[in-house]
Amino acid sequence: MGARLPAAAGIDLQDVQKIYDGVKALDIALLRVEPRSTLALIGPSGCGKSTLLRLVVGLLTPERGSIRIAGTPMRPETRLELQRRMGYVIQEGGLFPHLTAAENVALVARDLGWPDARIGARIQELLELTQIPRELLDRFPAQISGGQRQRVALMRALMLDPEVLLLDEPLSSLDPMIRSDLQRDLKQVFGRLRKTVLFVTHDMAEAAFISGEIAIMNRGTILQRGSFQELVRNPATPFVTEFIRAQRLLDAPNLTPT
Ligand code: ADP
Ligand code: MG
Repeated sequence: MGARLPAAAGIDLQDVQKIYDGVKALDIALLRVEPRSTLALIGPSGCGKSTLLRLVVGLLTPERGSIRIAGTPMRPETRLELQRRMGYVIQEGGLFPHLTAAENVALVARDLGWPDARIGARIQELLELTQIPRELLDRFPAQISGGQRQRVALMRALMLDPEVLLLDEPLSSLDPMIRSDLQRDLKQVFGRLRKTVLFVTHDMAEAAFISGEIAIMNRGTILQRGSFQELVRNPATPFVTEFIRAQRLLDAPNLTPT
């Protein structure tokens, strides 16, 4: 588990297809996320971002192709072991409503038989990292704010010190100021922990802030991968330009008062 493994697992997808009810939702020829690097995955609603993440975390099975984590293929017999090496955060946090924040965070570690002292020590580390006040941990998810819930969800995802972190629009339901605080803190956490991170968002400014590398998707495929500047200067398809233009990031200088 976490502590004994070299904390450097890459993610590899090769020739992966996912079909829902006869309709192809995802078709990825090749995708690699290097160990300890962050990749932001962006695209419009319905383009297949969540499908891709669910495949990587083993919640869905592809119709064809291979998915490997740290070189190990995701298969029924490897799924559980691989899942313990990955932390996963979704848009609404996915916390269990009937458990306190602390119980949510400690759930899997308890299942694995960690002694109380080890759980307590790990929680202390994570409180500092995620900047959550300790007293907040005794509350239920409904009793804390949306931003705090996402911090707790991040804390839960990090509990076992996974090598890989998968985040599916973790900030999309937050209002702008809370969101901007969390963007800054997440970026700092990624920089400190140096995990392999796949960060899904539909917001280009967020993608560019969080990660130097962005993969842009449409209709189940990856159109282009590069820095924000590369996508702007050298778009692979007209869609890339349209997508960036629609978010008004190209007009920003015009908004500056003279
Ligand atoms: P995104 O996360 O980018 O918004 P999704 O991965 O959720 O996109 O969805 C990709 C496509 O697959 C969409 O057209 C969506 O309607 C479809 N889809 C997703 N989940 C299912 C499902 N369980 N059954 C049928 N179609 C689905
Ligand atoms: Mg989604």
